[in-house]
Amino acid sequence: MRIVQKFGGTSVANVERIQAVALRVKGEVDEGHQVVVAVSAMAGVTNQLIEYCSAVSPLHDAREHDVVVSTGEQITSGLLAMALQGLGIQARSWQGWQLPIRTDGVHGKARIRDIDTQELEKRLESGEVAVIPGFQGLGDDNRITTLGRGGTDTTAVALAAALHADRCDIYTDVEGVYTTDPRIVPSARKLDKITYEEMLEMASLGARVLQTRSVELAMNHRVPLQVLSSFSNASGTLVCDEDEIVEKEIVSGIAYSMDEAKVTLVKVEDRPGIAASIFGPLADANINVDMIVQNVSEDGSTDVTFTVGRVDVGRAKEAVQNDDSISFESVITDDAVVKVSVIGVGMRSHVGVAKTMFEALAEKGINIQVISTSEIKVSVLISEEYTELALRSLHTAFDLDGE
Ligand code: ADP
Ligand code: ASP
Ligand code: MG
Repeated sequence: MRIVQKFGGTSVANVERIQAVALRVKGEVDEGHQVVVAVSAMAGVTNQLIEYCSAVSPLHDAREHDVVVSTGEQITSGLLAMALQGLGIQARSWQGWQLPIRTDGVHGKARIRDIDTQELEKRLESGEVAVIPGFQGLGDDNRITTLGRGGTDTTAVALAAALHADRCDIYTDVEGVYTTDPRIVPSARKLDKITYEEMLEMASLGARVLQTRSVELAMNHRVPLQVLSSFSNASGTLVCDEDEIVEKEIVSGIAYSMDEAKVTLVKVEDRPGIAASIFGPLADANINVDMIVQNVSEDGSTDVTFTVGRVDVGRAKEAVQNDDSISFESVITDDAVVKVSVIGVGMRSHVGVAKTMFEALAEKGINIQVISTSEIKVSVLISEEYTELALRSLHTAFDLDGE
């Protein structure tokens, strides 16, 4: 079998853990498998590197930023290759530019386009283990790019797809994908299986256990993906097709995202074309708008509320204020909000999920500020101070609590 293993930051946080990872890799090699390993930077290192960049220059050149922040993974890839050699295993590291892993030129959140696997294939056939730093690639401009936070997941899945691996194992610091973040809700339950679609929603709605792009790639290339712990031998969670899951829950998970900010335009003139004139300038400024609500108009004016990413809130305010084609009384922003979402493919065939969700929140006196839905999820925006209470109450309301 050909296996890609990914080890996250906590799993390679220090030299002892890197040695433990080497033993795990050896386990697969001893079984006779071909192994490719993708590694993250040691826990905390990427944050530190980002801080250095901000300290030197708040408006830094994105290309130099990538030169700096990609280095954490270079260190762990070399160390793991050495640790493997110490165990008598033939191993070498391959930096993103050496393979190369080709990406587009969007520094800081590049997308992988293509991986040259020719040399890798040859080496794998000869029994060599390849250790590959995650999160980095080579852009159009022939410079180092990075793939966005959590990008090593995507490196691993992209390698698994390009190498037609039989399995892609994502080793992390929890035992798999849970019904919700186990660090916030202790009664969260580990899922044996979750569909690609649900995992994609969970990831994009805030569950950081897998980077969204990695799930997208796994789904498109049908990569058999598994999430498991590098600290235990418990079985993990399999991400798979819907027809591989016999007992489907209506709701399989609850996610939350703090990366939201709310913008309200008070007393906007209510006439055809007003929405276009508000959201046009935001799109022009490359600001992604997520949830939108518009109140009923009573006196010819209306309030329009929408959410944007937290980092964009200042720019969003500026964009609407600087546009003369929109007239409104004032603009209010609030970033002490959280988006909580319930997710499940069962929603397609069951009604009442939104009702259960709203009732559970009402019972705790939690006010819903904005709502949005899609085929397999319902999201609400609430005040940030209720995050934990909301997650716990919804977890119970949807019968997700473990024993
Ligand atoms: P790594 O460094 O291994 O990539 P991450 O910190 O990126 O690890 O992701 C693992 C973390 O994701 C867990 O420690 C957990 O707190 C968080 N998490 C959020 N939602 C979930 C969920 N539904 N299931 C499992 N973990 C989750
Ligand atoms: N080291 C990078 C990060 O912290 C990439 C990763 O770990 O997946 O975001
Ligand atoms: Mg991660």
